[in-house]
Amino acid sequence: MSSIGSSNKAALITGASRGIGRAAALRLAVAGYAVAVNYHTDRAAAEEVCAQIAASGGRAIALQADIGCEEQAVELCRLAEAGLGPVSLLVNNAGIAGFGFFDAYTYQDWRRIFAVNVDGAFFCSRALLPGMISRKSGCIINISSIWGMVGASCEVAYSASKGALIALTKALAKEVGPSGIRVNCIAPGVIDTDMNAVLDTAALQELCGETPLGTLGRAEDIAAAIAFLASDDARFITGQVLSPNGGFVIT
Ligand code: NAP
Repeated sequence: MSSIGSSNKAALITGASRGIGRAAALRLAVAGYAVAVNYHTDRAAAEEVCAQIAASGGRAIALQADIGCEEQAVELCRLAEAGLGPVSLLVNNAGIAGFGFFDAYTYQDWRRIFAVNVDGAFFCSRALLPGMISRKSGCIINISSIWGMVGASCEVAYSASKGALIALTKALAKEVGPSGIRVNCIAPGVIDTDMNAVLDTAALQELCGETPLGTLGRAEDIAAAIAFLASDDARFITGQVLSPNGGFVIT
């Protein structure tokens, strides 16, 4: 394993103050990346991630932005490159969920989920791709969900947004592959993060029971998949969906 801060690779991870993004930031720092830790509201948590990376000899900066807003997402990408140099890895991780019956969704609810989960990935990818294309290398990893593969009742907007990320991944991989850029997708199963804090113990136990490996995933499980897809070990992998889910969904 590379030592922290051993190279000049730079990664931007959206939504890295907590959960999967946080674990990915820590893991990628160990893999030698300088990391731009994007957050939306929780500045203290993002700064704690950066402090932890710095304490291990790595380099990280915390950058606030609502990635669902084009201006802020573009500025986020500009600040990441101004602070760390060319971004060679973009992890489109930030996401929000929304539970409720389909007929109770307002268009505003629908748009907000798509703004963060899909538009955010579009804005950041579009802002960073010209540099990647000119350098003829780069890697984009989109964080989808098993619900984007198989759909979840009472999470129609979330499922649709995550399905869109899968299609975005496949199409973009075909388009930018000839420029030396890989685009992949991770579709996690149920992971023990704040996003699932809405579920009570009984619901979580039920989900564990339906999972062949009998456990929820950890943020670190997804960070490991991100680190793999970002690494040279995955140099021949593009346009793919990797789904660490404990066997909950087997296609
Ligand atoms: P989480 O614990 O709820 O953390 C969400 C992160 O996204 C936070 O860092 C938050 O920042 C950030 N964020 C939210 N809205 C944002 C916005 N508008 N602009 C920028 N950042 C924003 O979520 P998680 O469980 O780690 O999920 C991460 C990704 O994995 C999401 O895309 C999610 O859909 C996907 N996923 C999660 C699971 C699961 O079971 N947990 C399963 C499948 C897929 P602040 O802290 O600053 O608010």
